[in-house]
Amino acid sequence: MDLGIAGRTALVCGASQGLGYACAVALAQEGVRVTLLSRRRAALESAARRIETEGGYRPDIIACDLATHEGLTMALANADTPDILVTNAGGPPAKHFRELSPADWDSAIRTNFLASVELIRSCVDGMIGRGFGRIVNITSLTVRMPVEGLDLSTATRLALTGYVAGVSRQTAKHNVTINNLLPGTVLTERIKELGETANRLIAMVPAGRGGLPEEFGAACAFLCSTRASYITGQNLLVDGGLCPFTV
Ligand code: NAD
Repeated sequence: MDLGIAGRTALVCGASQGLGYACAVALAQEGVRVTLLSRRRAALESAARRIETEGGYRPDIIACDLATHEGLTMALANADTPDILVTNAGGPPAKHFRELSPADWDSAIRTNFLASVELIRSCVDGMIGRGFGRIVNITSLTVRMPVEGLDLSTATRLALTGYVAGVSRQTAKHNVTINNLLPGTVLTERIKELGETANRLIAMVPAGRGGLPEEFGAACAFLCSTRASYITGQNLLVDGGLCPFTV
């Protein structure tokens, strides 16, 4: 299936590894000109070299920390032109809810909620003006199914989910869609960090295995395609059937 996005431009956040990287690869394979954003320059350069091998060009990179004011300002300075935006960053620490400090909350709200809100606000008018835009926010399975120890992640991502529910309905008539992709047990560094919590979840996955990052990237590329033009405001689980609810 031709996804119809060859020649488009994309800003992909949290793209040096894991799910963000997989989304960038999938888009590059469709002929999209991707810009990779994440914290560490060396890791970004390595990711850009790998995409050059697969996609035939060297992506631009932006090294900045979305949790800081300076980093977000740098990201926003580059956010008015892309046709496609993938918002993403590292997940908050796994902690018992009684141990979460105000600093933990502050950091997670900035990283996993406000950064996405500001990026969406910065790019959406350019997309509307050009009559095409695709925004995909990488959130989490926990939006649908709370997991003990991940309450900070659940709460901040639900804030973004609520924001997207409203804003996506205001941009739809301009062919600008906004959807959330909800990973569960896709095998990345983050999953390894979660250790026993992740192993317990993987053992419950109906598909009988953890997910592959490229399976997640393919779902992202589809949502960013011209083929997905009538899908907006949705929360799509990529979890091998782990979340047990009917809707
Ligand atoms: P990861 O830790 O492997 O990769 C995170 C990427 O984001 C890296 O490129 C990192 O450098 C970048 N990043 C982290 N903090 C940043 C910041 N403040 N500013 C800019 N870049 C930053 O994680 P992943 O598994 O790819 O997961 C991506 C997101 O999806 C995370 O928020 C994670 O919590 C969430 N998630 C993942 C899964 C899963 O199955 N892997 C499940 C639920 C939720």
